[in-house]
Amino acid sequence: APILALETSCDETACAIYDGVRGLLAHSLHSQVKLHAEYGGVVPELASRDHVRRVLPLARAALAEAGLKPTELGGIAYTAGPGLIGALMVGGAAAAGLAEALGLPLIPVHHMEGHLLAPMLEPDPPAFPFVALLVSGGHTLLVDVQGVGRYRLLGESLDDAVGEAFDKTAKLLGLPYPGGPELARLAEGGVPGRFKFPRPMTDRPGLDFSFSGLKTAVLTALPKDADAQTKADLARGFEEAVTETLAIKCARALDETGHRRLVIAGGVGANRRLRARLQELAQRRGLGLYFPRPAFCTDNAAMIAYAGWARRADGRAAHDPLLTRARWPLTELSPPVL
Ligand code: ATP
Ligand code: MG
Ligand code: FE
Repeated sequence: APILALETSCDETACAIYDGVRGLLAHSLHSQVKLHAEYGGVVPELASRDHVRRVLPLARAALAEAGLKPTELGGIAYTAGPGLIGALMVGGAAAAGLAEALGLPLIPVHHMEGHLLAPMLEPDPPAFPFVALLVSGGHTLLVDVQGVGRYRLLGESLDDAVGEAFDKTAKLLGLPYPGGPELARLAEGGVPGRFKFPRPMTDRPGLDFSFSGLKTAVLTALPKDADAQTKADLARGFEEAVTETLAIKCARALDETGHRRLVIAGGVGANRRLRARLQELAQRRGLGLYFPRPAFCTDNAAMIAYAGWARRADGRAAHDPLLTRARWPLTELSPPVL
C-alpha cells in the first residue's frame, strides 16, 4: 500500500505519496524562501512555526492529488534527521499523529538517504552498486553505495559544504538569499578563465574536500567597486573551480571502487555546469550517470516517500518515543530488515 511522507527538515514543507507498484502518486511543496529572505538565511523558530501551519493542508492536498483516502495508505514516513531540530519535530509529530490515528506504522527516514535515493524516482534508475556524490546545503559526501543502507564513506568536506560555499560566495557578490541558484545564473554571462581559482585538495591523494578557502579567494579577487561583468566573471570562475574539483574527486572515487555508475544528488546537483561536466566524464569513460530532475535535487518529500517505502520494514509503532536527530551520520544506517 502507498506510503505518505512528510519532509520538514529545513525551510521547505513537503508531502508526497509513493507506491511500490504505481510509483509516485503525488507530491506538493511549500517553500519558506520569502519568509526568511529579509534575514539572509533560515531562522529556525520561524521555520518551525511555518511548518506547523503548512504541513496538514499539504498532506490533504497530496491525498486529493493521489485520489486516495487516508485509510488506503500503508504507512507514514517522515524526515527524522539530520536538520533543524524544531522543524524536524513538527513533521515528526504530525506524522506520528497521522500514524496513530490511522493505525499505521511510522517510518523515520534519514534526509541524506532520501537525497541519495532520489534518482530511483526517475525513468532509468541506477542499479547497485554505484558511487554517489551528495552535494547539498549542509553536506558534501562521496559514498560507495552497495544497496539501501549499505553505505561506505569515501570522502567528505572538512569545512563548508558545496551548497554553503555557493550561498556564502553569492552573498559576497551581493546576491539575494538563497544565493546558489542566483550565482549559477550570474555565472552564465561570465567570461570563462578570466579568474582562475584553486581546485582545493586535488594536488594530493584522497577524496576529502575543502571549500571554505574558495570563498576567501573570491573575496580577495573582488574589487571594491566591481562592475556587473566582473562579478559575473568571478561567479563563473568560482563555479568552474567547484565543478572541476568535484569532477576530479568523482573520477578518483570511480577508479578506487571500480564502479561503473555515478549518482549525483542534493541541491547543487541541480547546477547545469556540474551536470554537463560530469556528463562529459561519464561519456569519456563509458559510465552511467544518474541524477534526479532538478526539483528532486533540492529538498522535497518525493525522495522521503521513496526512502520510506524502501524502509517500510523499519516501521515502528506511532506511540514509541519520536525519533528526531539534528545530527545523524549517514554511515550509521544499516539495511532494512526485510
Ligand atoms: P542538507 O540536505 O545537507 O540538509 P539542504 O537540505 O538545505 O541541506 P538542499 O535543499 O539539498 O540542501 O540544497 C540546497 C542547496 O543547494 C543550497 O545551498 C543552494 O544554494 C544549492 N543550490 C540549489 N540550486 C543550485 C544551483 N543551480 N547551483 C548551485 N547551487 C544550487
Ligand atoms: Mg531549502
Ligand atoms: Fe536537503
